[in-house]
Amino acid sequence: MTDNAAPGELAYLKGVGPRRAEALMKAGIQSWRDLIFYFPRNYISRTGALGIQQLINKKLNENAESALSDAGYSLREELSVVGKIIQINERNFGRNRSMLELILTDDTGGKCKIVFWNMVKFFKKLYNEGQLLAVSGKGEVTGFKTLEFTHPEIDIIDEDDAELYKEGLILPNYTLTEEMRKSGLNMRLMRQLVAKIVENYAPRIKETLPDYILKRHALPDIKITLKSLHFPENMEEVKRAQRRVKFEEVFQLQLILSLDRNAYKTKERAPVFVEKSPLARELYSTLPFKLTGDQLKALRDITADFRSGSPMNRLLQGDVGSGKTIVALLSTLIAIDSGYQVAFMAPTEILAEQHYATIQKFFEGFGLSIVQLVGGQRKKLREEVIASVSSGTANIVVGTHALFSGEIPYKNLGFVVIDEQHRFGVEQRADLIRLSKRSMENGFAPHILLMTATPIPRTMTMTVYGDLDVSVIKEMPRDRKPIKTKVAYEKDRDEVLEFVKDKLREGRQAYIVYPLVEKSEKLELKAATEHFEELRTEAFGEFSCGLLHGQMQSVDKESVMRDFLAKRYDVLVATTVIEVGIDVANATVMIIEDAERFGLSQLHQLRGRVGRGSEQSYCVLLTKDKHQYQIRRKNADDTDIKALFVRLKTMEETTDGFKIAEIDLKLRGPGDMLGTRQSGLPLFKYVDLAADADIIAEANELAKKIVERDPKLEAAPNKLLKDRISDSIGDALKYYRIA
Ligand code: ADP
Ligand code: MG
Repeated sequence: MTDNAAPGELAYLKGVGPRRAEALMKAGIQSWRDLIFYFPRNYISRTGALGIQQLINKKLNENAESALSDAGYSLREELSVVGKIIQINERNFGRNRSMLELILTDDTGGKCKIVFWNMVKFFKKLYNEGQLLAVSGKGEVTGFKTLEFTHPEIDIIDEDDAELYKEGLILPNYTLTEEMRKSGLNMRLMRQLVAKIVENYAPRIKETLPDYILKRHALPDIKITLKSLHFPENMEEVKRAQRRVKFEEVFQLQLILSLDRNAYKTKERAPVFVEKSPLARELYSTLPFKLTGDQLKALRDITADFRSGSPMNRLLQGDVGSGKTIVALLSTLIAIDSGYQVAFMAPTEILAEQHYATIQKFFEGFGLSIVQLVGGQRKKLREEVIASVSSGTANIVVGTHALFSGEIPYKNLGFVVIDEQHRFGVEQRADLIRLSKRSMENGFAPHILLMTATPIPRTMTMTVYGDLDVSVIKEMPRDRKPIKTKVAYEKDRDEVLEFVKDKLREGRQAYIVYPLVEKSEKLELKAATEHFEELRTEAFGEFSCGLLHGQMQSVDKESVMRDFLAKRYDVLVATTVIEVGIDVANATVMIIEDAERFGLSQLHQLRGRVGRGSEQSYCVLLTKDKHQYQIRRKNADDTDIKALFVRLKTMEETTDGFKIAEIDLKLRGPGDMLGTRQSGLPLFKYVDLAADADIIAEANELAKKIVERDPKLEAAPNKLLKDRISDSIGDALKYYRIA
């Protein structure tokens, strides 16, 4: 008997028929196999689940422990309870506005309130006192020690189910689409259908993980997993089964990525750089500071890659100001001493300009030729630069996209540093690799160092960036004082401006950042200019102010930046263009206006522009008075306000970029954090990047180990893995492959 399923086969099952089969088909369920893998969305369970009062107590305890618990705020998380309706209240406001409240309780005596703002009439008809409801959604404990949900998912537990529930049975809840319901496929029928299918067909499902993996990682086999997910006897069983499903999901992807990376490494050869680099040694010995442990560790990782004969693809992660650049510079000198050219690529001209200046400063007296290649260069200059690059007189080329757009004839480009890598696409990196390969003898591929100041949670580097090796700089240079951050409101504006002026009088400089909110570029520019004029003539009348915004020509941007750096301006009014890279140690104050409009990671990036020197730095997050009001009022229905509060509060409480990234991941989900590069990325179906860190780490380690020992999956125990991945390899690599 085959275990391949024919589409449409469901229509022939008893109790299904063409109409229901079609509804299932539309939900992606075409075969009995699909149905077996259609796992319950959640479970109604009496055993193992927390009662309402227990949940309330748990939440209150957690809130008390949380750093963000100020006044009882917490991130809302997915909660489930079962309770009986004891009261239904309708409240009317004005003529047409009303809301509905259901009050539930269970035998723990706790109270749960469900609030409906929309479709009040509809819900009023649906619910009656005495009904037993299974509720799940983002819930939270309010000031009245009530567990409150707004428009959660609700299943009415009918009398039969209620009996089963009382007996302690666990009832699986499947997601039912509108069409399924219309075709008469209700929850009870769905459960029956799945039960029948699992009973008849689950024995035909073949195991997909080798025995040794199941044993070593304490995972249930596939048959037990399926049974546990559809008909668990207790919730522990569900947890174990879910763990297997998640584990397998990440493991599968990571195995493919590891194999691919391994294949790239073995297929592609790279130059072996010198072990001892006099230039690097000289720079190292003249540095006015000691490298931190993390910097040294990153350097060791890089030099090991340089010596391996395989191309390096390493992501150097570290908060703004953690000292990534110096690590890149020391590596650069090793490449030069090995006889290769180095390209230093930045996403904007300002950043390229700054890298250029930094490199010149650090490499002064080394007799190296450092050139710049950016977009808006005069033709003659560009030709000169290209000539020096192709003849090999240029040792280091610093630039923007211009480094690979156009057929730049490098002489022997052996090492590429890409700053703020998330701003570049996969294809752009591939272009650079292609140019580099063409420039080197023996078909060598370049060593690549990617740098990012965007702290990416570990779970994400292990999955989305699974093809890169990662070095992390966590430790900040010792003389750095953490930036003091405070949230202030409109009404505090005068006081804030006074504070800034005091700092300016002490000789410091300040950034005033505000978001662009207008839809049209013209209006945006107008708003920027007006705001600037107001600050320049009024608040900062006695100081000099510069303006920097996204629609300026890059030469103008650069000249403003240079003026600010040279302290010809005390204040720089700027839009988010200063987000990356700019380094002005004397600027110690940053005011972010309408701070609520920025994402958490973006706020963190912006703030990183101050705190670059040894002076104490400050960041003020200005936001609307009404937010203070809303936050105080603990407006429980508005998730946006909550998220806003958490963002601002997080900024006040920590400067740890990784912590901030984790919180951001929880607030926004992974899709948003990845930005443009990963658009269209198929995210996990079962795995939650924020919550399943342990599983991801475990699966990641296993995948790596297997590839290390058996890079072609030839060993007998790995045959299952090999068969399996050939099905999904193309898809995974389409999205995740780097070069
Ligand atoms: P990043 O590129 O990670 O944002 P930078 O490399 O620009 O950080 O470093 C920020 C500043 O700190 C620079 O002025 C740099 O010279 C200095 N710096 C780097 N490493 C150290 C260190 N170990 N101790 C003290 N200062 C350091
Ligand atoms: Mg930097």
